[in-house]
Amino acid sequence: MELTQKKHQLVWHDWRSQLQHRITTVEGLREWINVSEDEEEAIKACVGKYRWSITPYYASLMDKNDAKCPIRQQAVPQMQEFASYLGASPDPVGDTYYRKTNRVVHKYPDRVILLVTEACAVYCRHCTRKYHTTDLEGTYFEKSEAASWEEDFNYIASHPEIRDVLLTGGDPLTYGDEKLELIISRLRNIPHVEIIRIGSRYPVLLPQRITTEFCQMLEKYHPIWLNTHFNHPSEITPEAAQACDRLLRHGVVVQNQTVLLKGINDDLETMRSLLTGLLKIRVRPYYLYHCDNVTGVSHFVTSVEKGREIMQGLLGHMTGFAVPQYIITTSLGKIPLWEEQFHQDQDGFWIENYKGETMRVTGLPD
Ligand code: SF4
Repeated sequence: MELTQKKHQLVWHDWRSQLQHRITTVEGLREWINVSEDEEEAIKACVGKYRWSITPYYASLMDKNDAKCPIRQQAVPQMQEFASYLGASPDPVGDTYYRKTNRVVHKYPDRVILLVTEACAVYCRHCTRKYHTTDLEGTYFEKSEAASWEEDFNYIASHPEIRDVLLTGGDPLTYGDEKLELIISRLRNIPHVEIIRIGSRYPVLLPQRITTEFCQMLEKYHPIWLNTHFNHPSEITPEAAQACDRLLRHGVVVQNQTVLLKGINDDLETMRSLLTGLLKIRVRPYYLYHCDNVTGVSHFVTSVEKGREIMQGLLGHMTGFAVPQYIITTSLGKIPLWEEQFHQDQDGFWIENYKGETMRVTGLPD
């Protein structure tokens, strides 16, 4: 591969340099992979409709010749994004319905999400907030992203029931440390905010972002939790492992939320490999999300039966805390899709273990 002048200027371990050198053109992408006809057509179709960009780091994980490569499918546009699917919606989880201020979404009693930004390092093709992060026709922000934060902080400060704030977006770590510290310290000064969570895919898409300085900043504001988003075992690289290790060494609890994606991780072997790989880097699998039927994302949606079949192959066969909860996010909240082991019939309740052995349980209310 012949390197361009631009690629020569990239400082691989510098996250800002990686962001500056993000791939945003077909020509740039051709330096990493043999772009398929479908991918090229989709990139053209994205103009004026969807954002796309890929960090050089994430591009380096792609299979050069295989358009079905799980990394490629998550980052490179495909024409299926532009097909119509029954029931698809820009916001099936109800973020816009529950938004109380420009940035605060208050859906559950004791916690809120704070939409820090609409920007990301890589625009994942399967993003649940595709309308907010990649759709050029609009974002969730009623006002601009640069609008004052006072209304948002005031909302949280005036609701004493809020004990848990999740910084999300877009990806909050797109902001520099200084800006993030202003937000986090402000939240930490609200007495009833007990925990601060950060939802970020940077450990996967640009692990160089997790610098020691960043981790030292977070350490001042504990308890801080970080939920990240590994979807495939090939994302668990030495760089990603080091990023998670840095967070953990500074006391930040790191958990993982995987999205079940057709053609990427919807088989038992891949899922087991992902989950065991996460345990090896001390990241706890937390949720397995059923993919939401978001406009532009529907081609990644599997059947619920497929998800349950995978869960059947995990439960009991793996270390208990390696097995995530299989969840669907709806406008009513998160609903577990795994109730296989608990049944009721005319004689009462019975339970079933992973081998299919059953027993009656008594003492439970009808
Ligand atoms: S990093 Fe997260 S918010 Fe950004 S596009 Fe990917 S899934 Fe969506």
